[in-house]
Amino acid sequence: MIVYKSCIRCNGDIHLKEDQYGQFLYCLQCGATTDVPRRIDVVGAEALANIA
Ligand SMILES: [Zn+2]
Repeated sequence: MIVYKSCIRCNGDIHLKEDQYGQFLYCLQCGATTDVPRRIDVVGAEALANIA
């Protein structure tokens, strides 16, 4: 699952990843990671609903 142009740092494309701690967003451009529940609402809660 890739969300385009949603990185909070560089506005790059982010990839939804998951480990034992849960889901997070990983930027393909700059490598920034973002917790899903915390910052995705900047992009739009509807997008998160579609992911989940
Ligand atoms: Zn980035």
